[in-house]
Amino acid sequence: AAMDKTKLVDLKEGWKEGTPVPYAALAQAFTFIEATTKRIEKTALLTALFLLVIRRSGEGDTQSLLQTVYLCINRLCPDYMGIELGIGESLLVKAIGESTGRNLSTIKSELKKEGDLGLVAMNSKNSQKTLFKPKPLTVPFVFTNLKEIAMSSGHSSQNKKVSIITKLLAACQGSEAKYIVRSLEGKLRIGNAERTVLVALAHAVVLAEQEKANKRLSKERLTTKLEEASATIKAVYSELPTYDIVVPALLESGIDQLRERCKLTPGVPLKPMLAKPTKAIGEVLDRFEGKKFTCEYKYDGERAQVHRLDDGTVGVFSRNSEDMSKKYPDLMEQLPHCIKDNTKSFVVDAEAVAIDRTTGKLMPFQELSRRKRKDVKVEDIQVRVCLFAFDLLYLNGEPLLHKSLTERRELLREHFQPVEGEFDFAKASDGETTEEIQAFLEESVKDGCEGLMVKMLDSDASYYEPSRRSVNWLKLKKDYLAGVGDSLDLVVVGAYYGKGKRTNVYGAFLLACYDADGEEYQTICKIGTGFSEEALQSHYDALKPLEMTKPRGDIKIGGAKPEVWFEPKVVWEVLTADLSLSPIYTAAQGLADERGISLRFPRFIRIRDDKSADDATGPEQIAEMYERQVLAQSKGGKKGKGG
Ligand code: ATP
Repeated sequence: AAMDKTKLVDLKEGWKEGTPVPYAALAQAFTFIEATTKRIEKTALLTALFLLVIRRSGEGDTQSLLQTVYLCINRLCPDYMGIELGIGESLLVKAIGESTGRNLSTIKSELKKEGDLGLVAMNSKNSQKTLFKPKPLTVPFVFTNLKEIAMSSGHSSQNKKVSIITKLLAACQGSEAKYIVRSLEGKLRIGNAERTVLVALAHAVVLAEQEKANKRLSKERLTTKLEEASATIKAVYSELPTYDIVVPALLESGIDQLRERCKLTPGVPLKPMLAKPTKAIGEVLDRFEGKKFTCEYKYDGERAQVHRLDDGTVGVFSRNSEDMSKKYPDLMEQLPHCIKDNTKSFVVDAEAVAIDRTTGKLMPFQELSRRKRKDVKVEDIQVRVCLFAFDLLYLNGEPLLHKSLTERRELLREHFQPVEGEFDFAKASDGETTEEIQAFLEESVKDGCEGLMVKMLDSDASYYEPSRRSVNWLKLKKDYLAGVGDSLDLVVVGAYYGKGKRTNVYGAFLLACYDADGEEYQTICKIGTGFSEEALQSHYDALKPLEMTKPRGDIKIGGAKPEVWFEPKVVWEVLTADLSLSPIYTAAQGLADERGISLRFPRFIRIRDDKSADDATGPEQIAEMYERQVLAQSKGGKKGKGG
């Protein structure tokens, strides 16, 4: 990495202080980052790039770093604003043709061979003779144009998009066209995970601060400082996941002030706290022994984070920070009814559940998922939703994350009121014995819930932990008690064409789990039975645009050989009867065994479009499931302790 970093430094040529960041600097960094799979090297390269940007940004310039960060993760704004790139292949082929004068069929046949439109664009550019050297691309120019493309919609927008893309491509030099085209496709493919970017940002800011203060810390002091800074930025970002605020704050008041300056803010959805699965009531009691805890119904709906700003604006966000107000206009209408007068701004954590208005019965998630996702009109809605609130994270100007659940729950109950069929508090019981929990669990299932959530009530163990799968929240599902085990959320990374009547669609799929530490996808199984013709067709339609002829570098393939690869994006919930060691798949390799773990007889349950690829189940969880199974088998069916 040392050598690479020096090469990055070379870029200062033609990049004077206070002038815009040349896009060539990014393309250069991307080339190095793409060439390594090691996270430490990726982090070092990104750090070097960010540091260069900070050094050369003029006084008060926060946009240069902000736009650089966004381009590195191929986004244009925070997730919840929903502005995304994902330009179709044909439009891009057209633009490449127009800007290089090559004919479309040559471009297409080259694409077939290379499997990467970015590479094809770069080769097309480089084989073209130009008389004049174009004016170099800059980061602000690229960023603004990408944003304009992403934001233009409607019929007449096609021509406009092609003309902007053509203009961008015309100015590309070296490897720039490769990354511009990949950005436009929405597949940058350099494997920059959010965590790497956050750590690199922290490191760059600390190093820049040292330079500015003209201080040289000892190696140990510096290492500690860098580690602290990474922890700070990760914690802050999980509360306030928007670079729009975090990056300027970092530059203006430094890493030490960051926690103070960036706190949970209504309007910016945070990443929700998650729970750990447990298999038996005994396990819950072991974990929470001697502590106060509560059991709540685990409703079978969709997570909904409800925000209200000081000015009265209300927003509802999904678990994935998507704006859900278009999907739930009925919820938006209902919300004001449950807010008491003493409540101004707030963030409520809740579950939106389908409900039968006449009987008041809860309905399963499937009913909810049948609703349209966009442009829903209240008068057309068949299935109504009721909101079950279980947490209060912010109230009247104050974040509550560091208050105990007991306090948060009291405030929730004081500031909101139940409205029949529209809003209620999650049903809770603070019973503590196995019998009480068992009875409440059965009641929850009878009432149409999935089971229970068991939560720590007091002390700092009950603080709200954004984006964590915490041991202080345990889920107890009826499925586990039936011995089925928890479902897994897996990413579709490849497919195999069908046979017989099904040759026009994929007949089977390659699934993977996601290792957040190694930032890689690990293959886990092939799934291909139990799909109807319609289901296969709709999976095909959804996955086809994500096709890539070569696997992305962050997929640990093992011996799997699918016929097509996908950009990891689509998440499926899958159940399995059995896990086994596998010489082919790579999931959880080296954890329970040298070999990977695979699912036997996997069964598709549903698409999880409220989850992104990096929310998929992790290898530790899979190893844990496998070890439990081995343990259960070695006990020879003897009854384990607890429920
Ligand atoms: P699952 O497959 O169980 O939905 P998940 O990965 O989406 O899992 P988990 O952390 O496993 O999330 O389970 C928590 C989910 O259960 C929450 O995201 C929320 O949508 C839902 N839920 C229902 N009732 C509650 C409750 N009382 N407290 C917290 N979460 C609840």
